[in-house]
Amino acid sequence: GFKMGIVGLPNVGKSTLFNALTRTAAAQAANFPFCTIEPNVGEVAVPDARLDKLAEIGKSKQVIPTRMTFVDIAGLVKGASKGEGLGNQFLANIREVDAIAHVLRCFEDGDVTHVEGRVDPVADAEVIETELMLADLESIEKRRAGLVRKLKGNDKEAVVQDRLLAQAQAVLEEGKPARIVEVSDEDAKAWKNLQLLTTKPILYVCNVDEGSAAEGNAHSAAVAAMAAEQGAATVVISAQIEEEISQLDADEAAMFLEEMGLEEAGLDRLIRAGYDLLHLQTYFTVGPKEARAWTIRQGTLAPQAAGVIHGDFEKGFIRAETIAYDDFVALGGEQGAKDSGKMRSEGKGYLVKDGDVLHFLFNN
Ligand code: GDP
Repeated sequence: GFKMGIVGLPNVGKSTLFNALTRTAAAQAANFPFCTIEPNVGEVAVPDARLDKLAEIGKSKQVIPTRMTFVDIAGLVKGASKGEGLGNQFLANIREVDAIAHVLRCFEDGDVTHVEGRVDPVADAEVIETELMLADLESIEKRRAGLVRKLKGNDKEAVVQDRLLAQAQAVLEEGKPARIVEVSDEDAKAWKNLQLLTTKPILYVCNVDEGSAAEGNAHSAAVAAMAAEQGAATVVISAQIEEEISQLDADEAAMFLEEMGLEEAGLDRLIRAGYDLLHLQTYFTVGPKEARAWTIRQGTLAPQAAGVIHGDFEKGFIRAETIAYDDFVALGGEQGAKDSGKMRSEGKGYLVKDGDVLHFLFNN
C-alpha cells in the first residue's frame, strides 16, 4: 500500500488530524510537545462516490474501498538533524513513506504553545525543510564515504549512486531541496532508491481555525503562495472540526458540514490530494459478493494491476475484461455493457485507466 507521513513542528495539530483520520484514540492529542513519541500508523479508506454507485448497480453485498496508510511522525523540531527533540528517530520513519503531509499551524490560539513563540507557517515550513536538508546532507556525506572503496573497483552501481549523490549534494549545499534535481528516466530507479528525505513529494496541510475552514485565512494564503512557487500542493483544513466530524455518524456529519458552509469533509480532500500527489488511480472489481476499489500507480499495465489483487493473477494473466466506469453506469452494469459491445477484452499491454471496471482471466 501507499504511505503518507504526517510531519510538522510540535503543537501544530498533527495528532488531532491523525485522530480524525483514523478515528482512534491511539494518537492522544495533548497540549505539550513530544506527545506522540511512537510513530502511529493508521489505515484510511479513500473516499470514492463511484464505488457506491457500482455496488448499487452490481447489487454487491459488500463495499470495500481502497486504503491509504497515514503515519503520524513526531519529533521534528529545530535541531532535529543534530539530535535535538526526539533525535534522529523520525528520519527513519520519514524514509519509509511515499509522500509527506506537512502540517502547518495556521491558527491563532493563546492557549496552545507555539514552539517558536509565534504563528508563522511559512517560517515553520522552512525550519522543517532545513532539518530535512541537513539530514540529507549528513547521510549523503556518510554514504559517499562508504562508496569510496567500491568506486576504486569501478563498481557500476556505485558509480551511478555516487554521481546521483553528488548531484543532490550540490543542490542541498545551495540550500535547496533535492527534489529540484532533474533525473533522467534511466536514473529514476537508482534516484528513488537513494530515499532522500527532500525528494519526497510534499503536500502542505494548513491547519486553520474553525472560522476559516471554508475560505482559509491570511496564514494559509501565505502558505499557498509559497507552495505555488515550489510546485507543491496545499490543502486547507481545520483539524479541530475534522476531529469533531469524525465522532459523528454520516447524517450528523453532513448536517454539520452544511452548517459550517463546507461542501465535504476536509479529510476527504486531504486523502484525495495525497492520492493525486502520488499519481495514483483506482480501478474496480464488481460482483454480487463485493464491489471493491483497488489502487495502482498511473501508467500501470493490466497484469501488474491484477497483481495488486494477487500475485497469481499477475503470473497467470491471460486478459482483462474491461468496462469503462461511465459505460458500466450508463448501461446498467456488466450485462448491459456486454450487450452493447462496451466490454473490451484487453491484453498484457493494456494501460489501465482510472475508473475501469475489470475482470481478470488467468491461468492457475
Ligand atoms: P501535534 O503536537 O502537532 O501532534 O499537535 P496536537 O494535535 O497534539 O495539538 C496541539 C494542541 O493544539 C492541542 O491542544 C489541540 O487541541 C490544539 N489544536 C489542534 N488543532 C487546532 C486548531 O485547529 N485550533 C485550535 N485552536 N487548537 C488546535
